[in-house]
Amino acid sequence: MVEFFGHVIDGRETESEDGRRFDSVNPFTREVWAQVPLGGRAEASAAIAAARRAFDDGPWPHLGPQARQAVLRRLAELMVEHADELARADTLDMGKPTPQALADVERSAWNIRFFADHQALSCGDQYPMDSGHHAYSLFQPAGVVVAIAPWNFPLMMATWKIAPALAWGNTVVLKPSEHTPTSVVVLARLALEAGLPPGVLNVVHGFGTGSVGEFLTDDDRVDRITFTGESRTGNAIMGAAARRLIPVSLELGGKGANIVFDDAELENATDWAVQAIFRNAGQVCLAGSRLFLQRGIAERFLERFRAKAEALVIGDPLAEGTEFGPLSSEVHHTKVKGYVETVEQHGGRLLTGGLGEGWFVKPTIVVGLPLDAPQYREEIFGPVVVVTEFDTEDEVVSLANDTPYGLNAMVFTENLSRAHRVSARLKAGTVWVNCFFIRDLRAPFGGVGASGVGREGGNFSREFFTEPKAVVMQV
Ligand code: NAD
Repeated sequence: MVEFFGHVIDGRETESEDGRRFDSVNPFTREVWAQVPLGGRAEASAAIAAARRAFDDGPWPHLGPQARQAVLRRLAELMVEHADELARADTLDMGKPTPQALADVERSAWNIRFFADHQALSCGDQYPMDSGHHAYSLFQPAGVVVAIAPWNFPLMMATWKIAPALAWGNTVVLKPSEHTPTSVVVLARLALEAGLPPGVLNVVHGFGTGSVGEFLTDDDRVDRITFTGESRTGNAIMGAAARRLIPVSLELGGKGANIVFDDAELENATDWAVQAIFRNAGQVCLAGSRLFLQRGIAERFLERFRAKAEALVIGDPLAEGTEFGPLSSEVHHTKVKGYVETVEQHGGRLLTGGLGEGWFVKPTIVVGLPLDAPQYREEIFGPVVVVTEFDTEDEVVSLANDTPYGLNAMVFTENLSRAHRVSARLKAGTVWVNCFFIRDLRAPFGGVGASGVGREGGNFSREFFTEPKAVVMQV
């Protein structure tokens, strides 16, 4: 039976005014498993109006930090209690294997808990002045936040945005990706159960250009836009924000460099290389999609890496033991397939992998490509890694930085000085040394160049989701 997940506007789950709906397709069975309403101008406007009312009339922005913390902590508890339901929604929407979807739920609950606590424990600054005046800072909620999320980590990316926004007293309109609309509806239901007042968190479904996404970013009642998605979409959203002079936070694409020096611990480096490009079928902005191997260890590394890639259990993402699922949608499969099919045409060779059944692309390792090949330069966003060998530290730093992107990089070496030196020289928002994907939510997260504008995390999120105010007193 096809399940239904509505818009959530002003505390009520609804259809669209004109009754139109669209499908969510399970990428493993390629059958429709759920439907959601197709929002238009009316729904975007109603959701913003609800968020505006909930902000202007309260009580959410005026509750104390501990009262907001209590509601959000209750939400995190409910998410853990409903972990199977939330994980199932992401798995059916986009093919993420269940253990990975459950790990995302855990991380999403952590996002909520972390920002609830961070906000409750935050202090303003004081500035005693020589003149005898006394200044201090207030961090006040910014207002109505529009949050637009991608499909690769549907729940995790949504909570990464809405957790700090809500914790700091804002109200939110969230638009999930049209490919993965369902888990955030479950989240919004749980938020109401946790005691979040109606209108504080609204969810509205639809597409991007010429649809709900665009209508939400082009509305004068909105105070902040936080967006995660493709760099091209980021351009359009920054344009919309610029027209109305509101701050925007953009977390965009990537083409991560994974650098393995010949003194690296090979077992550890190959384990992480597998995670970095084959987790979530490579549909990860942070993917280590360009693998740079120092010539002395290249052959040994590739032997192990290939064996581990070929050992991944491919199959039904709902089945126990599956480690690697299909790509998220037909349109995405077509895109990734295009890159795989043209490897030889561009002078490269598949060491392993290639196309699979249905919307599967197998874990694919490509060698021998020239540096101007599209597979090497463009974000494929699939399980395809391009291997390049290098000789010196200078050479690999310059190769790694030769990209419009700058989201993240990985460095594998047992040489401590080199680890620090290379980390400092890489063009990236995050550098992982001898690991991957480990996050401390207090640390800045974001990208350089085409990978984004601004940083979120800890105090960086506070800066974005509040209006910092200085009060100067004569004492
Ligand atoms: P996308 O840009 O196609 O869509 C993202 C969201 O934007 C969707 O909800 C979509 O409906 C909406 N949208 C599209 N056009 C719009 C417009 N003109 N106005 C307003 N909204 C619009 O991206 P995607 O394919 O869903 O996600 C994959 C991309 O996201 C990859 O490039 C990946 O690297 C990036 N990503 C980045 C991070 C990060 O933290 N930097 C994290 C995850 C994904």
